[in-house]
Amino acid sequence: MRENRLYVVIPCYNEEEVLPQTVERLREKMQALIKEGLIAPDSRVVFVDDGSKDRTWQMICALHREDPLFSGITLSLNRGHQNALLAGLMTVRNRCDCTISMDADLQDDLDAMDEMLRHYQEGCEIVYGVRSKRQTDSFFKRFTAQSFYRMMRILGAGTIYNHADYRLMSRRALEALAQYREVNLFLRGIVPMIGYKTAQVLYERHERAAGTSKYPLKKMVGLAFEGITSLSTKPIRMITWLGVLLFAVSILMGGYSLVQHWLGNTIRGWTSTVLSIWAVGGLVLFSLGIVGEYIGKIYLETKARPRYLVAEFLDDAGQDKGERDPAGTDGFLG
Ligand code: UDP
Ligand code: MG
Repeated sequence: MRENRLYVVIPCYNEEEVLPQTVERLREKMQALIKEGLIAPDSRVVFVDDGSKDRTWQMICALHREDPLFSGITLSLNRGHQNALLAGLMTVRNRCDCTISMDADLQDDLDAMDEMLRHYQEGCEIVYGVRSKRQTDSFFKRFTAQSFYRMMRILGAGTIYNHADYRLMSRRALEALAQYREVNLFLRGIVPMIGYKTAQVLYERHERAAGTSKYPLKKMVGLAFEGITSLSTKPIRMITWLGVLLFAVSILMGGYSLVQHWLGNTIRGWTSTVLSIWAVGGLVLFSLGIVGEYIGKIYLETKARPRYLVAEFLDDAGQDKGERDPAGTDGFLG
């Protein structure tokens, strides 16, 4: 049996309306999981207050005082869902054996946790919660979200289809994640890069229990753009290919305009003008693409991503004694 001290990490931004409900549901769920022996009795639920402007943080503090199951982290100001989640995961990673991240609005089905934890026991380091249906989402949300996944794939930023940020990550996966030191961190794209043994758990996504979505279209477009530009240099390569294409067209156009010239269908100066427009345009784009390729390389270098992560080492000298951080991080209601 793997050690199973679970920390549930939940980013919250202005969630005072839904929080009481979430807390009750989680309390029941955690107690049931402890009873079943799927998680250790000292498991926790950690709310990450993402610089909320309402009473979210006060509620979390009160909750922590009355029930040690709940604790919290508050950020200095609103940094967005992805950063809040990362802050939570990185703060608790030395205190637990695994984490499950989810939203505060109960859209993610809590009952999927059991299966996630079973996969964890079977040796999975990352278990993705994948939406089986999107019926509860509005057509608009479904359409935009699905286009997003598709576009991401085309642009070379591989993400798990229909997976948001409901996932289990073991301590080991979190250690790996910590090695990705890039500032523009797009979790849904980076986590699949970690590798190790993974699994997927299907669940039905519910309606938001209370409150309003904190992800308006503007933020979604922002997230998509962030995802693409922080994961992929494919757009640059597209410029190169466009340049090559234009240059090829210019050769065709060259043939065409020369023929027209010889047939006498043209006025003076047309042939050379048309030819240079196409050829120069193609060359300029092509050169831009080449320069871009180097910029892309610099960009990837500056991210300084880990080049590999060792999954297993059959070493007869014994097991690695990974240290736990006894002091932990400050400012955390542990
Ligand atoms: N969230 C956050 N910071 C933000 C926006 C949202 O921490 O700036 C949290 C929010 O409290 C919720 C989760 O991210 O727990 C997902 O947000 P929401 O449910 O509003 O997004 P949707 O499900 O509508 O895409
Ligand atoms: Mg939601």
